[in-house]
Amino acid sequence: MKYSDGVDRKTAAIVLCAGKGRRTGLPYNKMLMRIGGDTVAELTLRAFVKSGICDDIIMTVSPEDEDVMREIADENGARIVYGGESRTESVRNALAALSSDTEIVLIHDGARPFVSPALITAAALSAAEYGSGVAAVPSVDAIKEVRGNYVTRTLDKSALYNVQTPQAFRFDEITDAYSKISGDYGDDSEVYELAGYRARIVRGEYTNTKITTHADLFRLPGAYRTGIGFDVHRFAEDRDLILGGVLIPYPLGLLGHSDADVLVHAVMDAMLSASDLPDIGVLFPDTDPAYKGISSILLLDKVCDMLRCRGVKPVNVSAVVMAEKPRLAGYIPAIRESLARALALPVQNVNVSATTTEKLGICGEGKGMAASAIVLVTT
Ligand code: MG
Repeated sequence: MKYSDGVDRKTAAIVLCAGKGRRTGLPYNKMLMRIGGDTVAELTLRAFVKSGICDDIIMTVSPEDEDVMREIADENGARIVYGGESRTESVRNALAALSSDTEIVLIHDGARPFVSPALITAAALSAAEYGSGVAAVPSVDAIKEVRGNYVTRTLDKSALYNVQTPQAFRFDEITDAYSKISGDYGDDSEVYELAGYRARIVRGEYTNTKITTHADLFRLPGAYRTGIGFDVHRFAEDRDLILGGVLIPYPLGLLGHSDADVLVHAVMDAMLSASDLPDIGVLFPDTDPAYKGISSILLLDKVCDMLRCRGVKPVNVSAVVMAEKPRLAGYIPAIRESLARALALPVQNVNVSATTTEKLGICGEGKGMAASAIVLVTT
């Protein structure tokens, strides 16, 4: 593909996905763990596709994951090759599967799904100009050499880097390097060095973390947050009763500046709360004529956009409507459909129930309705 210097170079990426990921404590390959709805393997592949620099992308896979990995590969224009018993064997298998006119090859751990397309292109360009481009970040912690629990040496931090992937190399050189070694190596640049080549560093990213242990799963950008929302509106004459965007036949409607959809208001406040954004009273003030009589579903669209801008998306919604009358049971399926459509979620992820309040309080006395919602969001 064409590089930023305008030169066309045949470029391949090897994404190592054959690991078992036993250290994560998961009963399945960590590549298939989901972060915000997408598997680690998908997120990683997409970064390579987005870089726009790869003519060929190979995933190394274990035979037991072949079917699901093939699907992920197909969706991203990649192909699969069986991995080996070790990382080194997997890299060798993938190198052997590349076409002989390949010029640049990027090798990447599939368990680094947060790699940016910019880092991928920077590594490849370095390899084109200097033979290699190895992502690495300056070490943050002091690093000690330790033997038998005692520090034997403190290393000069200013000269130390933590090496990541991608690591990009001229194809002929890395192929030559792998042909010269035996045993297993966790780092391609080490294999390259051992063959007498000089590995060149490109500035990596501290966010380009590798998922290795179970604890890593809780430090991921795909962490989850919940938010709660609550709202009350009183009944009034000459108003439509709208719940979750659905018109409910009833002699009274809810009073408010907008269409007073009490359920959608609770859902929006829950989404905003989970995303650390101001509530709807602040975002859509009832003094603003722009929102007079507006469909709350349109406001919900705006809230969805706000979340999207922050890289946040809802996972599921659970809401309850409190009313003595009318009986809502028959309208619940339509309300769920309507909310699910607005939130771009499957209907099974949008649950709504209705309850009376035993004739107590404003809802129980039939003076109004209340709704409460909890939303789970992810990054
Ligand atoms: Mg309201």
